Amino acid sequence: MNQRVALVTGGTGGIGTAISRRLTQEGYRVVAGYFNRGNHEKAQLWQLQQREAGFLIDISYADLKDPESCLACYLNIRETIGPVDILVNNAGITQDSSFKKMTFDQWQTVMDTNLTSVFTMTQRVVQDMVERSFGRIINISSVNGLRGRFGQTNYAAAKAGMHGFSKSLAFEVARKGVTVNTISPGYIATDMIMSVPEEVRNKILAEIPMGRFGEAEEVAAAVAFLVSNDAAYITGANLSINGGQHTY
Ligand code: NDP
Repeated sequence: MNQRVALVTGGTGGIGTAISRRLTQEGYRVVAGYFNRGNHEKAQLWQLQQREAGFLIDISYADLKDPESCLACYLNIRETIGPVDILVNNAGITQDSSFKKMTFDQWQTVMDTNLTSVFTMTQRVVQDMVERSFGRIINISSVNGLRGRFGQTNYAAAKAGMHGFSKSLAFEVARKGVTVNTISPGYIATDMIMSVPEEVRNKILAEIPMGRFGEAEEVAAAVAFLVSNDAAYITGANLSINGGQHTY
């Protein structure tokens, strides 16, 4: 069997790096998507560091806010490496603000990056999956997309939208060998979390029943399971990884 191809958007970020590495270990040919505001050297350095650590990972540029850039990225991967069998929509940003102060730009940028990009990227990739009767789509949502959070109307709306998107698409491709699931991490110890002031971090920690942040590798392990043959009958599901934080 040919090596399956996995595209991880935001694949050079905190959680993305762990997912890219884990899928490489599992034997997939991994392409890590990056943006870096067009700073290609930074992504190339990341790639070199992965190689030195024993992980051969391809990289591909896209500004996911831009549908044309998404399409160009995918068509380039398709032509140079092959059609994508596994799509992990992992890229995401926050632009927090109380609703009263939130600008339309903050709303739109987060919706475009976190949700519309999922539509754009998936729409082209899923065509190839259906044609080849195999596909795994994993959408990385958030605990805050399930329960909301002060200052995150934009982020929580986009992340909640991923659930409706995934469940609906799961219906449409269920008979085509394609599964669509979400993973909702709680607080994961990436740079984003570790760089917030200690006082704020301690407040967050106090909310977590297990009393610790999650590890990016723990999210990657869940991705590895959901893309495996063992998870072939799981679709339209959400897997929460949040140390016991209550979600509805
Ligand atoms: P990072 O900031 O480390 O990673 C985010 C990734 O998104 C980066 O690789 C970034 O690429 C990419 N990205 C941002 N904007 C764009 C764009 N316009 N086009 C293409 N790529 C873009 O964060 P995390 O690793 O922590 O987060 C990964 C995912 O997990 C996100 O969706 C986040 O919402 C979600 N999540 C994270 C949690 C946490 O505690 N860390 C908790 C719950 C969910 P680049 O750097 O190249 O610009």
